[in-house]
Amino acid sequence: MSGPHSLERVVIVGAGFAGFHAARTLSRLARGAVEIVLVNPTDYFLYLPLLPEVTAGILEPRRVAVALTNNCPGIRFLLGTAYGVDRAARRVLYLDARGDHRSLDYDRLVLAVGSVNKLLPIPGVAEHAYGFRSLAEALYLRDHLLREVEIGNATEDPVERAACRTFVVVGAGYTGTEVTANAQLLTKDAVTRCPGPGDQEVRWVLVDIAQRLLPELDLRLSEAAHKVLTKRGVDIRLHTTVEEATSGGVRLSGGEFVPSRTLIWCVGVRPDPLIESLGMTTMRGRLVVDAYLNVPGHSEIYACGDSAAVPDLTRPGEVTAMTAQHAQRQGKRVAHNIAASYGHGERKPYKQHDLGFVVDLGGTRAAANPLGVALTGFPAKVVASGYHLMAIPSNRLRICADWTLEALLSRQVVQLGMVPPSSVRLAATAEAPAPPGAVRRTG
Ligand SMILES: Cc1cc2nc3c(=O)[nH]c(=O)nc-3n(C[C@H](O)[C@H](O)[C@H](O)COP(=O)(O)OP(=O)(O)OC[C@H]3O[C@@H](n4cnc5c(N)ncnc54)[C@H](O)[C@@H]3O)c2cc1C
Repeated sequence: MSGPHSLERVVIVGAGFAGFHAARTLSRLARGAVEIVLVNPTDYFLYLPLLPEVTAGILEPRRVAVALTNNCPGIRFLLGTAYGVDRAARRVLYLDARGDHRSLDYDRLVLAVGSVNKLLPIPGVAEHAYGFRSLAEALYLRDHLLREVEIGNATEDPVERAACRTFVVVGAGYTGTEVTANAQLLTKDAVTRCPGPGDQEVRWVLVDIAQRLLPELDLRLSEAAHKVLTKRGVDIRLHTTVEEATSGGVRLSGGEFVPSRTLIWCVGVRPDPLIESLGMTTMRGRLVVDAYLNVPGHSEIYACGDSAAVPDLTRPGEVTAMTAQHAQRQGKRVAHNIAASYGHGERKPYKQHDLGFVVDLGGTRAAANPLGVALTGFPAKVVASGYHLMAIPSNRLRICADWTLEALLSRQVVQLGMVPPSSVRLAATAEAPAPPGAVRRTG
């Protein structure tokens, strides 16, 4: 899709927290004045913070998928994956849904491609670990956990049964902590529902090199999460790393081998490889922008969210953290600054303080610090649930219905088997994209 167009065109690449909100805000500010095109590989914006509840079987997968076509009035949506930018010609190069090469001219470009699982060079991890960033990974993990519980129940061998019921999570940031908290309750439930020989124990091991859980968050949240998980029997290993992963288990630093068939990799993320491939200035893989979210020397290119190194004006010398909160507000700021570049409103730098965090700990537990006030237990759960309901742009009624059913009925312990393991192994989800020439044409 290239060639002359009458209205100026703003192309937004990536429909996550940053891109989705950039598109919607720009549509409100400058609808009719510019053409807005949103390019994304899926036809939904994935609300990542509720993904652990999909694995736990509390929310149906569609609840966390915000349909772009329903929620982006006045925006042209293109299903595709960008693989390059021709800056001289002002053109985005992308693969459409059939794998065909296409291009799209732009007058303003917003890069909001987010981040991908971070792979560390540890033997066996790429082959044996699973990441946690997509619906496919969340669904696969749910099936995998239930399958391991069921295999464990079917075996007479106590050593094999213990390995099946041992689950290792690496990374105790909010992703690893929330996944552990939610998935541990699922496996505990599953074990008691289909009792086999031997005891009904499940073992969860949460590993992090840091000295506390949630190292990037307020100490009070960290302590609250530690207390809840310890009480539930989670084996928390701090100051610890993984030295090797095999099909039979995980070797921790210090030499201990934990027999397990499950390694969940939540050690963090790195910016989408598209950013690196552009050959522009990056900082730890994130595209360098100024406080107006503009790429220096390219007044027509903006970047925001996890894939951009945005100066944090509240902490001079630092860049903003990779959080949904920043991504969403940066997306809105980009929209305002682009609208200003067309004469609608005023261009402003991005400056936002953290409003606090919510960490879902499964069941009726959470930890939160809205506006700096530390909450734990059920009050934190109410705040966390309310926050997510406010923050997700649609599906609210459906989410409330799922939460109500979860409170009233027992969980459905079933595997659907719809995601093949090869598509979600870390080796597949964390690898850099193939160069354009290597892409097979499918249509
Ligand atoms: C399980 C989990 C829980 C989290 N919980 C929280 C939380 O509670 N609070 C919080 O603040 N943060 C949380 N985060 C972090 C937060 O989700 C991210 O910081 C946020 O999603 C970043 O927004 P983004 O728009 O930059 O990227 P994303 O939301 O990841 O969106 C990027 C979009 O770009 C698309 N894309 C990628 N490459 C291309 C390409 N080449 N061409 C076209 N499109 C492309 C992707 O498909 C995606 O739609 C969580 C993350 C995870 C994984």
